[in-house]
Amino acid sequence: MADFSLDLNEDQLQIQKWVHDFAETVIRPAAHEWDEREETPWPIIEEAAKIGLYSWEFVASSFADPTGLQLALVSEELAWGDAGITLAILGTTLGVSGIVGSGTPEQITEWVPQCFGTPDDLHVAAFAVSEPDAGSDVSSLRTLAVYDEKTDEWVLNGTKTWITNGGIDKVPNVHVVVAAVEPQLKARGHASFIVPPHTKGLSMGQKFQKMGIRASHTAEVVLDDVRIPGSCLLGGKEKLDARLARAREGKSSRVQAAMSTFEASRPLVGAQALGIARAAYEYSLDYAKERKAFGRAIIENQGIAFKLADMKMEIDAARLLVHRACWMGRNGKEFTAGEGSMSKLKAGEVAVWATEQAIQILGGYGYVRDYPVERWHRDSKIYTIFEGTSEIQRLVIARAISGIHIP
Ligand SMILES: Cc1cc2nc3c(=O)[nH]c(=O)nc-3n(C[C@H](O)[C@H](O)[C@H](O)COP(=O)(O)OP(=O)(O)OC[C@H]3O[C@@H](n4cnc5c(N)ncnc54)[C@H](O)[C@@H]3O)c2cc1C
Repeated sequence: MADFSLDLNEDQLQIQKWVHDFAETVIRPAAHEWDEREETPWPIIEEAAKIGLYSWEFVASSFADPTGLQLALVSEELAWGDAGITLAILGTTLGVSGIVGSGTPEQITEWVPQCFGTPDDLHVAAFAVSEPDAGSDVSSLRTLAVYDEKTDEWVLNGTKTWITNGGIDKVPNVHVVVAAVEPQLKARGHASFIVPPHTKGLSMGQKFQKMGIRASHTAEVVLDDVRIPGSCLLGGKEKLDARLARAREGKSSRVQAAMSTFEASRPLVGAQALGIARAAYEYSLDYAKERKAFGRAIIENQGIAFKLADMKMEIDAARLLVHRACWMGRNGKEFTAGEGSMSKLKAGEVAVWATEQAIQILGGYGYVRDYPVERWHRDSKIYTIFEGTSEIQRLVIARAISGIHIP
């Protein structure tokens, strides 16, 4: 009689294989091209939509997996193919997480399908929190949301930056925007809003050229007197008013608009990092067995073999943390030691480290663009920066284990 098991069930194994096949046959062969083009790979998102991988039904069924592991497995396999293309496919789920994290059941039903559209009419979504002067310090948002009682509308003004899928208008784009309603209350005065596709006043600012994940679109989003219906306030006005009243009285509130989304998504971001790390490990293991120097395969040197042993060990350790956090999140277990942060921190740092080891194992071939390893290293770095930098993850863990609000 053993309750504890690390076995994946039949459904999970099937889905893992299905996504792996897509990553192997569609994503990986296209990775170099879209990295060089630095554009959203629309044909690949279309392919993913055609097979049902890019769809709200698939995301809903993944969220429903009682073990919480399905989306992590999917994320790892996709990113094994290519992390930039993965973000082009999964970027929409960030917006979806914002809606699911703060929305009412009616809002979820209305808006989540609109984030994906259909294979013939693709839509995307974006989750816009970060600002030029508020990245890690989310409490300092300057984007303002003001309620216009006469028209029952919210009016949004401000500039968001570094937004995945931000401002894309080639296809309908659902922006989930976190804004300050009462800035003096800091994060407790924030709320999340849906800005429906093609709303007047929302435009794309600068599109960034990046070191890695270059198939994923990252841009500024400018909000200039953006008027949205009262119904676009996620969670509804009554709930917001009650929360603001509690905050004004200095009472604590568990829900902070951006934070509840990040808590849920961090382990999944960690799972993407795992995919990159595993790709680099597998590639360099094969290479080390083939490549000869001094008359023998380079893996026959302990200096190379031990690197590979450490890579495998670190990747497996990171995966255990990612799966634990996914399972805890899905099963309502409270993160008492920052387990969500731990998983993303470990997986992100392992990915940066493992891809660098892979470059070393490939030598000169690791450094040139004819081989994928340098791209994996460039792609990996973002995983110690977005969705909370490594320092911020350590802060979350340190606060959780100490009970002290370390600044
Ligand atoms: C490619 C890309 C995609 C992104 N996608 C999105 C998106 O879709 N939506 C979105 O809202 N945002 C997105 N971001 C923004 C991302 O989340 C932020 O860049 C990140 O949170 C860090 O904020 P910052 O860049 O302002 O750095 P800063 O907050 O200025 O931090 C700079 C450095 O200081 C350190 N630091 C800051 N405070 C502390 C502290 N208290 N203790 C110790 N160290 C500290 C940080 O760890 C970091 O090393 C994206 C960013 C990139 C690059």
